[in-house]
Amino acid sequence: TAPIVVVGGGLAAGTAITELRERGYTGPLVALTDEPRLPYERPPLSKGYLMGKDAPDGSLVHDRAWYDEHDVDVRTGTRVEAIDPANRTVLTRDGELGYRSLLLATGARPRRLALADDSGAPVTYLRTFEDSTALREQLRPDRRIGIIGGGWIGLEVAAAAREAGASVTVLEALEQPLLNVLGGTVAEIFADLHRRHGVDLRTGVRVERITSAGAGAVVELADGGRFEVDHLVVGVGAVPATELAEAAGLTVDNGVRTDSALRASAPDVFAAGDVANADHPVLGHPLRVEHWDTAIKHGKVAGANLAGGAEVADALPYFFTDQYDLGMEYVGNAGPDGFDRVVVEGDVPGLNFRAWWLRSEADGERVVAGMHVNDWDAIDEIRSRVGGLTS
Ligand code: FAD
Repeated sequence: TAPIVVVGGGLAAGTAITELRERGYTGPLVALTDEPRLPYERPPLSKGYLMGKDAPDGSLVHDRAWYDEHDVDVRTGTRVEAIDPANRTVLTRDGELGYRSLLLATGARPRRLALADDSGAPVTYLRTFEDSTALREQLRPDRRIGIIGGGWIGLEVAAAAREAGASVTVLEALEQPLLNVLGGTVAEIFADLHRRHGVDLRTGVRVERITSAGAGAVVELADGGRFEVDHLVVGVGAVPATELAEAAGLTVDNGVRTDSALRASAPDVFAAGDVANADHPVLGHPLRVEHWDTAIKHGKVAGANLAGGAEVADALPYFFTDQYDLGMEYVGNAGPDGFDRVVVEGDVPGLNFRAWWLRSEADGERVVAGMHVNDWDAIDEIRSRVGGLTS
């Protein structure tokens, strides 16, 4: 019999494989990843691992022995070149492989910045274990690190670089870092945090030119600003890895479109994690999020359904970050303009507080998102309040 084939070497793939075996699927199972490593999680790549605190293998979903024991044929360094849903095959350099069902867990890739790529300057886009390993070498007291993009990756790298003693400049096009995710009130708290830790955070700036200079780079801004760095990190978002799905004629729209059971538009093809733009039964619209927790939740649902189950992916988005002494968890999806006001409760200067994003509706004020900073008992209350009305 043809195997269930999982494409990808991230957390969605790893979780789906685990779920398939835990659900009692004992048939053939093949995982194909173009990376040299077994499936792994990425959050440590901009945090503990980047700071030299986490062991390299800590981020693996399972070690090799687990896959052997569970009879999972994981082929690393194996890129899937095409999928053919009509004939139920995938193509790799080793030839065609038939499948009985297929999971696309191809994730996302960093959005490239031509200004940086064309400059010849040393640039890191942080996505893989190898990217993080190489960047670690740059985070030293004698280094000047320039970071383009004040999003999660940019800010986490800034924190890691400061903790390593490097000097750090962050360039953000908007008036605040994270403005589109958090809105001004909470974004300001993150901006202050980084400035207090010595980051030269420049907001509302546009990078006009990058040139290589010696072993480093010169960055020129539209406002006339000009400075030198030893290394650049670009964190300007990610794009879903949809090329296989597109070439096969699957419905693709900001990711592989799926229903809430993570079924794509061809029979027995599923998509999960960063690549999936899935109908969300609670929110009532499709949602694609690039979050660790979604990779797990999607992986479980996809694994269950590949094993013949009938589950839906209905979890609210959950996200966490760690920067310096700030740990945060966020539930919901307020987006840049999905809310009318933000209420912050607690001790902001002491970095121990909760924040709520509220939207006015006909029947009252709805909580569209909630988060806490360093208030580790808060998460259950946040989960229970998000989606409901304020009383
Ligand atoms: P991915 O992890 O991207 O895995 C996709 C896999 O598919 C990759 O191995 C890729 O190489 C492989 N692949 C793609 N195309 C092919 C092909 N044709 N053939 C074979 N293999 C292929 N989220 C949080 O919630 N909190 C955090 O603090 C956080 N920190 C992060 C830090 C970093 C540095 C990064 C990069 C991400 C972070 N995230 C965080 C996001 C989180 O890691 C992602 O949401 C998660 O990795 C998504 O998992 P995935 O399995 O869907 O995709």
